[in-house]
Amino acid sequence: MPELPEVETIVRSLRKPLLGRCVLRARLRHAALYRRGSLRVPWLVGRVFSSVERIGKNALFNFQPAGAMTVNLGMTGRLILHSRHRRVSLPKTFRSEAGDTDDKHLHVRFHLDGGLELRYHDPRRFGFIYITESHDIRKNLALGPDPFDTRDRDLERALERREAAIKSLLLDQRVISGLGNIYADETLFEARIDPRTPGRDVAGNAATVLGAARKVLRRAIAHGGSTLRDYRKPDGTTGGFQQHHAVYGREGEPCIECGSPIKKVVISGRSSHFCPVCQR
Ligand SMILES: [Zn+2]
Repeated sequence: MPELPEVETIVRSLRKPLLGRCVLRARLRHAALYRRGSLRVPWLVGRVFSSVERIGKNALFNFQPAGAMTVNLGMTGRLILHSRHRRVSLPKTFRSEAGDTDDKHLHVRFHLDGGLELRYHDPRRFGFIYITESHDIRKNLALGPDPFDTRDRDLERALERREAAIKSLLLDQRVISGLGNIYADETLFEARIDPRTPGRDVAGNAATVLGAARKVLRRAIAHGGSTLRDYRKPDGTTGGFQQHHAVYGREGEPCIECGSPIKKVVISGRSSHFCPVCQR
Protein backbone atom coordinates (compact mmCIF):
# COMPACT_ATOMS: atom_id res chain seq x y z
CA MET A 1 0.00 0.00 0.00
CA PRO A 2 -0.40 2.31 -1.85
CA GLU A 3 -0.33 0.42 -5.14
CA LEU A 4 -0.68 1.44 -8.79
CA PRO A 5 -4.29 2.80 -8.67
CA GLU A 6 -3.64 4.87 -5.54
CA VAL A 7 -0.43 6.37 -6.94
CA GLU A 8 -2.11 6.97 -10.32
CA THR A 9 -4.93 8.80 -8.51
CA ILE A 10 -2.40 10.92 -6.62
CA VAL A 11 -0.34 11.90 -9.68
CA ARG A 12 -3.44 12.71 -11.73
CA SER A 13 -4.66 15.15 -9.12
CA LEU A 14 -1.23 16.72 -8.56
CA ARG A 15 -0.39 17.12 -12.25
CA LYS A 16 -2.36 20.23 -13.12
CA PRO A 17 -1.55 22.27 -10.00
CA LEU A 18 2.18 21.38 -10.09
CA LEU A 19 3.06 21.71 -13.78
CA GLY A 20 5.09 24.87 -14.41
CA ARG A 21 5.58 25.58 -10.69
CA CYS A 22 9.06 26.47 -9.51
CA VAL A 23 10.62 25.09 -6.31
CA LEU A 24 11.54 28.06 -4.09
CA ARG A 25 12.63 26.22 -0.96
CA ALA A 26 12.89 22.57 0.01
CA ARG A 27 13.44 20.96 3.37
CA LEU A 28 13.73 17.34 4.45
CA ARG A 29 13.74 16.36 8.09
CA HIS A 30 15.12 12.79 8.09
CA ALA A 31 18.09 11.96 5.87
CA ALA A 32 17.13 8.28 6.24
CA LEU A 33 14.28 8.97 3.79
CA TYR A 34 16.77 9.36 0.95
CA ARG A 35 17.30 6.29 -1.13
CA ARG A 36 21.00 5.50 -1.52
CA GLY A 37 22.62 7.70 -4.16
CA SER A 38 19.92 10.38 -4.05
CA LEU A 39 20.75 14.06 -4.43
CA ARG A 40 19.46 16.27 -1.59
CA VAL A 41 16.16 18.19 -1.86
CA PRO A 42 17.78 21.69 -2.00
CA TRP A 43 19.21 20.60 -5.36
CA LEU A 44 15.68 21.05 -6.75
CA VAL A 45 15.50 24.74 -5.80
CA GLY A 46 15.04 26.88 -8.90
CA ARG A 47 13.80 23.94 -10.97
CA VAL A 48 10.35 23.78 -12.54
CA PHE A 49 7.96 20.80 -12.55
CA SER A 50 7.77 19.63 -16.18
CA SER A 51 5.86 16.37 -15.72
CA VAL A 52 4.06 14.45 -12.98
CA GLU A 53 3.81 10.73 -13.68
CA ARG A 54 3.60 7.31 -12.13
CA ILE A 55 6.28 4.66 -12.44
CA GLY A 56 5.29 1.33 -10.89
CA LYS A 57 4.05 2.18 -7.40
CA ASN A 58 6.06 5.42 -7.30
CA ALA A 59 5.26 9.03 -8.12
CA LEU A 60 7.76 10.50 -10.59
CA PHE A 61 8.32 14.24 -10.96
CA ASN A 62 10.49 15.53 -13.80
CA PHE A 63 12.02 18.99 -13.74
CA GLN A 64 13.27 21.64 -16.15
CA PRO A 65 16.03 22.22 -17.02
CA ALA A 66 16.97 18.75 -15.71
CA GLY A 67 16.41 16.37 -12.84
CA ALA A 68 13.85 13.90 -11.59
CA MET A 69 12.44 12.93 -8.21
CA THR A 70 10.79 9.64 -7.33
CA VAL A 71 8.63 9.41 -4.22
CA ASN A 72 7.75 5.98 -2.87
CA LEU A 73 4.97 6.17 -0.30
CA GLY A 74 5.95 2.99 1.55
CA MET A 75 3.14 1.86 3.86
CA THR A 76 1.74 5.10 5.19
CA GLY A 77 3.15 7.94 3.06
CA ARG A 78 0.98 10.77 1.76
CA LEU A 79 1.66 13.57 -0.70
CA ILE A 80 -0.44 16.53 0.26
CA LEU A 81 -0.84 19.75 -1.66
CA HIS A 82 -1.37 22.74 0.48
CA SER A 83 -2.20 26.30 -0.49
CA ARG A 84 -1.06 29.09 1.78
CA HIS A 85 -3.29 31.64 0.10
CA ARG A 86 -6.99 31.11 -0.32
CA ARG A 87 -6.77 33.22 -3.45
CA VAL A 88 -4.65 30.63 -5.27
CA SER A 89 -6.89 28.77 -7.62
CA LEU A 90 -6.67 25.08 -6.91
CA PRO A 91 -9.13 22.50 -8.10
CA LYS A 92 -12.19 22.86 -5.87
CA THR A 93 -11.49 19.59 -4.11
CA PHE A 94 -8.22 20.84 -2.61
CA ARG A 95 -8.48 22.12 0.89
CA SER A 96 -6.61 25.21 1.89
CA GLU A 97 -6.81 24.66 5.63
CA ALA A 98 -3.92 25.92 7.77
CA GLY A 99 -2.28 22.51 8.16
CA ASP A 100 -0.11 21.59 11.09
CA THR A 101 3.51 22.27 10.19
CA ASP A 102 4.73 21.11 13.62
CA ASP A 103 3.37 17.67 12.83
CA LYS A 104 6.22 15.25 13.60
CA HIS A 105 5.26 13.04 10.64
CA LEU A 106 5.63 15.91 8.16
CA HIS A 107 9.04 15.03 6.71
CA VAL A 108 9.46 16.97 3.49
CA ARG A 109 8.17 20.40 2.44
CA PHE A 110 8.56 21.95 -0.99
CA HIS A 111 7.62 25.61 -1.10
CA LEU A 112 6.52 26.53 -4.61
CA ASP A 113 5.69 29.77 -6.33
CA GLY A 114 2.10 30.97 -6.04
CA GLY A 115 1.90 30.06 -2.35
CA LEU A 116 1.70 26.34 -2.94
CA GLU A 117 3.40 23.77 -0.79
CA LEU A 118 3.88 20.08 -1.55
CA ARG A 119 4.26 18.03 1.61
CA TYR A 120 5.34 14.49 2.26
CA HIS A 121 3.82 13.00 5.38
CA ASP A 122 4.71 9.49 6.57
CA PRO A 123 4.19 8.15 10.13
CA ARG A 124 6.04 4.88 9.59
CA ARG A 125 8.72 6.15 7.20
CA PHE A 126 8.95 3.06 4.99
CA GLY A 127 8.86 5.24 1.89
CA PHE A 128 11.78 6.92 0.15
CA ILE A 129 12.78 9.90 -1.93
CA TYR A 130 15.21 9.55 -4.81
CA ILE A 131 16.47 12.56 -6.75
CA THR A 132 18.73 12.23 -9.79
CA GLU A 133 20.06 14.41 -12.54
CA SER A 134 19.05 11.95 -15.24
CA HIS A 135 15.57 10.80 -16.27
CA ASP A 136 16.51 7.12 -16.45
CA ILE A 137 14.67 6.21 -13.26
CA ARG A 138 13.16 2.87 -14.31
CA LYS A 139 16.60 1.32 -14.67
CA ASN A 140 17.89 2.88 -11.46
CA LEU A 141 14.98 1.47 -9.47
CA ALA A 142 15.20 -1.97 -11.16
CA LEU A 143 11.54 -1.75 -12.15
CA GLY A 144 9.92 -4.19 -14.55
CA PRO A 145 7.36 -3.12 -17.17
CA ASP A 146 4.10 -1.41 -16.31
CA PRO A 147 0.97 -3.60 -16.66
CA PHE A 148 -0.44 -1.09 -19.15
CA ASP A 149 2.71 -1.10 -21.32
CA THR A 150 3.94 -4.68 -21.21
CA ARG A 151 3.08 -7.22 -23.90
CA ASP A 152 1.58 -10.67 -23.26
CA ARG A 153 4.70 -12.28 -24.66
CA ASP A 154 6.97 -10.39 -22.23
CA LEU A 155 4.98 -11.53 -19.20
CA GLU A 156 4.93 -15.07 -20.59
CA ARG A 157 8.74 -15.02 -20.79
CA ALA A 158 9.03 -13.61 -17.26
CA LEU A 159 6.87 -16.46 -15.87
CA GLU A 160 8.38 -19.33 -17.84
CA ARG A 161 10.47 -21.75 -15.82
CA ARG A 162 9.56 -19.95 -12.58
CA GLU A 163 8.80 -22.32 -9.72
CA ALA A 164 7.51 -19.57 -7.40
CA ALA A 165 3.76 -19.06 -6.84
CA ILE A 166 2.12 -16.71 -9.34
CA LYS A 167 1.02 -14.51 -6.41
CA SER A 168 4.64 -13.94 -5.35
CA LEU A 169 5.72 -13.31 -8.94
CA LEU A 170 3.03 -10.66 -9.44
CA LEU A 171 4.32 -8.89 -6.31
CA ASP A 172 7.90 -8.92 -7.65
CA GLN A 173 8.37 -5.42 -9.10
CA ARG A 174 11.07 -6.72 -11.47
CA VAL A 175 8.52 -9.05 -13.15
CA ILE A 176 5.78 -6.42 -13.42
CA SER A 177 5.63 -3.10 -11.60
CA GLY A 178 2.66 -1.60 -9.79
CA LEU A 179 0.84 -4.52 -8.17
CA GLY A 180 0.81 -5.05 -4.40
CA ASN A 181 -1.10 -7.44 -2.17
CA ILE A 182 -4.59 -6.07 -2.89
CA TYR A 183 -4.43 -5.92 -6.68
CA ALA A 184 -2.45 -9.15 -7.09
CA ASP A 185 -5.26 -10.99 -5.22
CA GLU A 186 -7.98 -9.19 -7.20
CA THR A 187 -6.20 -9.86 -10.51
CA LEU A 188 -5.92 -13.59 -9.81
CA PHE A 189 -9.62 -13.77 -8.90
CA GLU A 190 -10.51 -11.93 -12.12
CA ALA A 191 -8.29 -14.40 -14.05
CA ARG A 192 -9.73 -17.37 -12.06
CA ILE A 193 -6.23 -18.61 -11.18
CA ASP A 194 -5.23 -20.16 -7.83
CA PRO A 195 -2.59 -17.84 -6.29
CA ARG A 196 -0.45 -20.86 -5.31
CA THR A 197 0.00 -22.04 -8.93
CA PRO A 198 3.69 -22.08 -9.99
CA GLY A 199 4.60 -19.32 -12.45
CA ARG A 200 5.58 -21.77 -15.18
CA ASP A 201 2.06 -23.25 -15.21
CA VAL A 202 0.55 -19.78 -15.68
CA ALA A 203 2.98 -18.60 -18.42
CA GLY A 204 0.67 -19.90 -21.18
CA ASN A 205 -2.16 -17.77 -19.70
CA ALA A 206 -0.10 -14.56 -19.53
CA ALA A 207 -2.64 -12.76 -21.74
CA THR A 208 -5.46 -13.67 -19.35
CA VAL A 209 -3.46 -12.44 -16.35
CA LEU A 210 -2.54 -9.15 -18.01
CA GLY A 211 -6.09 -8.59 -19.21
CA ALA A 212 -7.40 -9.24 -15.70
CA ALA A 213 -4.81 -6.92 -14.14
CA ARG A 214 -5.70 -4.08 -16.50
CA LYS A 215 -9.43 -4.53 -15.92
CA VAL A 216 -9.04 -4.52 -12.12
CA LEU A 217 -6.60 -1.59 -12.14
CA ARG A 218 -8.79 0.53 -14.45
CA ARG A 219 -11.81 -0.03 -12.21
CA ALA A 220 -9.77 0.81 -9.12
CA ILE A 221 -8.44 4.02 -10.71
CA ALA A 222 -12.01 5.00 -11.63
CA HIS A 223 -12.89 4.69 -7.91
CA GLY A 224 -9.86 6.72 -6.79
CA GLY A 225 -8.05 3.65 -5.36
CA SER A 226 -8.67 1.68 -2.16
CA THR A 227 -8.47 3.18 1.31
CA LEU A 228 -7.93 0.54 3.99
CA ARG A 229 -6.22 2.69 6.59
CA ASP A 230 -3.78 5.41 5.63
CA TYR A 231 -4.13 6.13 1.93
CA ARG A 232 -5.64 9.51 1.10
CA LYS A 233 -5.88 11.44 -2.13
CA PRO A 234 -3.88 14.71 -2.12
CA ASP A 235 -7.08 16.56 -1.22
CA GLY A 236 -7.43 14.49 1.97
CA THR A 237 -10.38 12.36 0.82
CA THR A 238 -10.48 8.55 0.71
CA GLY A 239 -10.66 6.18 -2.26
CA GLY A 240 -13.75 4.05 -2.83
CA PHE A 241 -12.58 0.80 -4.43
CA GLN A 242 -12.29 -1.07 -1.10
CA GLN A 243 -16.07 -1.56 -1.32
CA HIS A 244 -15.64 -3.41 -4.61
CA HIS A 245 -12.94 -5.93 -3.66
CA ALA A 246 -13.98 -9.42 -4.76
CA VAL A 247 -11.57 -11.31 -2.50
CA TYR A 248 -9.05 -9.07 -0.73
CA GLY A 249 -9.92 -8.71 2.97
CA ARG A 250 -13.05 -10.89 2.55
CA GLU A 251 -11.92 -14.09 4.31
CA GLY A 252 -14.94 -16.26 5.21
CA GLU A 253 -17.37 -14.05 3.27
CA PRO A 254 -19.24 -15.53 0.28
CA CYS A 255 -17.62 -15.42 -3.17
CA ILE A 256 -19.45 -12.90 -5.37
CA GLU A 257 -19.50 -15.50 -8.15
CA CYS A 258 -20.32 -18.87 -6.51
CA GLY A 259 -21.10 -18.10 -2.85
CA SER A 260 -18.32 -20.30 -1.40
CA PRO A 261 -16.41 -18.80 1.53
CA ILE A 262 -13.30 -16.83 0.51
CA LYS A 263 -10.17 -18.49 1.83
CA LYS A 264 -7.02 -16.86 3.20
CA VAL A 265 -3.61 -18.53 2.93
CA VAL A 266 -0.08 -17.24 3.47
CA ILE A 267 2.18 -17.32 0.41
CA SER A 268 5.82 -16.24 0.90
CA GLY A 269 4.83 -14.41 4.04
CA ARG A 270 1.97 -12.45 2.45
CA SER A 271 -1.70 -13.14 3.17
CA SER A 272 -3.54 -14.13 0.02
CA HIS A 273 -7.30 -14.22 -0.51
CA PHE A 274 -9.02 -16.38 -3.09
CA CYS A 275 -12.08 -18.47 -3.91
CA PRO A 276 -11.10 -22.17 -3.76
CA VAL A 277 -13.98 -23.04 -6.14
CA CYS A 278 -13.61 -20.35 -8.83
CA GLN A 279 -9.80 -20.21 -8.82
CA ARG A 280 -8.43 -23.59 -9.80
ZN1 LIG B 1 -16.20 -18.51 -6.17
